[in-house]
Amino acid sequence: MQLTKQHETIIKNGIDRLIGMGAEYVDARFLTDDNSESLVIYDGNLESNSTEFQSGLGVRVLYNGAYGFSATSKIDNFEECFKMAFENAKAASLLVKLPLSMGEKKPAGKFFYESPVAKDPFDIPLKEKIDFLYEIDNQFKEDFIFKKMVYANFQKKNAYFFNSEGIFVDRKLTNVFGNMTIMGIDKAGEMQRRSHELFTFGNQTRGYELLTNPNHFSSHAIRIKSELEQLLQADDLEYGKRSIILLPGQGFLQVHETIGHPLELDRILGYELSYAGGSFVNLDSFGKLKYGSDKLTVTAFGGFANSPGSFGYDDEGSPERNYKLIDKGLLVNCLTSRAMIDEANKRAGREVFKESGGASRATAFYRAPIDRMTNVNIEPGEDGSLEDIISNTEDGIVLDNPTSWSIGSNREHFHFACEIAWEVKNGKKTRILKNPTYQGHTVEFYNSLSAVGDKSTWRVEQVSNCGKGEPNQVMQLGHGIPVIKFDNVITGERK
Ligand SMILES: [Zn+2]
Repeated sequence: MQLTKQHETIIKNGIDRLIGMGAEYVDARFLTDDNSESLVIYDGNLESNSTEFQSGLGVRVLYNGAYGFSATSKIDNFEECFKMAFENAKAASLLVKLPLSMGEKKPAGKFFYESPVAKDPFDIPLKEKIDFLYEIDNQFKEDFIFKKMVYANFQKKNAYFFNSEGIFVDRKLTNVFGNMTIMGIDKAGEMQRRSHELFTFGNQTRGYELLTNPNHFSSHAIRIKSELEQLLQADDLEYGKRSIILLPGQGFLQVHETIGHPLELDRILGYELSYAGGSFVNLDSFGKLKYGSDKLTVTAFGGFANSPGSFGYDDEGSPERNYKLIDKGLLVNCLTSRAMIDEANKRAGREVFKESGGASRATAFYRAPIDRMTNVNIEPGEDGSLEDIISNTEDGIVLDNPTSWSIGSNREHFHFACEIAWEVKNGKKTRILKNPTYQGHTVEFYNSLSAVGDKSTWRVEQVSNCGKGEPNQVMQLGHGIPVIKFDNVITGERK
């Protein structure tokens, strides 16, 4: 569906009417098309071929310091939707203790963003997509492979944003995800697995061509097959303190869970306490907390051309920004929206945050936006290639891909299990080890960061299923991550 003049008039009139009735601020998001297609080949069978289509309007209103939200999928209901959002804000305003606001008014303007795409995944015939996945599946016909899965997901949405300050944003967003996972039974009778997720280098186009680029996806089938075969004959990692070298396939989740989530401002303010937990970071931590060693610089960056965390403008109409969250180990900022920085500054009684980080996101038209990760990245360092880092390691392990994770409710500590470890002794990779795990306390752990790989080790890992909010909102984002090394980490399990 295209945005028509008629839609525009109804939405603008709805906003004006609520402002006339005393609303302090109104925004409306109209998703004319929100498409998703998932294909799953499981053990050689097309197990799932599902397509979803959504379209509708979400309206958020601020009245007497309280927000109200309403949504509808029926165009005939748009006027009613504005009315309901206003009624909800009015009801909420009766309970307000701390009046909220959107902060400083932003200048009006028209903005446009489109994900760079060479081949629209929704223009590719279904058979071609299924055949492509089967080509990969066919490479996994081996006696030692017990279970196999090849998966692709395509997303495309047209989203229009309007607010009472005269901001209009037109966005066309495309995401492509892919995963292959194989499992086998090892010599002890335990299940082992290897997987590969479609990744990017942040600077290419992000249509169907990303999935069919062998460097990013299909060529990795041979590698994970060989690694699984070796894993099935491998010994367990023994318990002990040693260095760990995280490849981006594991480093991204480490950063996601122990830097990304604890630095979402709504979480810091306690909005996630009853679901996913809080944060050990508080409003006094900024400019003071030594989150990591001098080698740790973390950015929030929406400028990668191809990452699901790049969307141009957030769901409050703020542009995505490139800014530092952690600067040479020092915590300096977090992931913010206009609504939350105003509340945080009021609660702190001083200006902790200046402007929105453009991180206000809603998963669908029928959910109110909350603070979400955009792309949370570790900047490449000066410790060379993976080989250089290995050659400077006396006793350690290289780790890739998570199998399970358990994280403290305030993200203050963590325990991860990975698919595979390569032992490193005296600067050389020796053998593959199975069932690797590691654990640590977040701040102590990042302060033990001793090497950060250069740009040759860096890539953008895609996240298709970050969950947050009540009701739950599944969100897509990215992490630009180099190879990272930490020292004196507790690894393996005590027997
Ligand atoms: Zn998450």
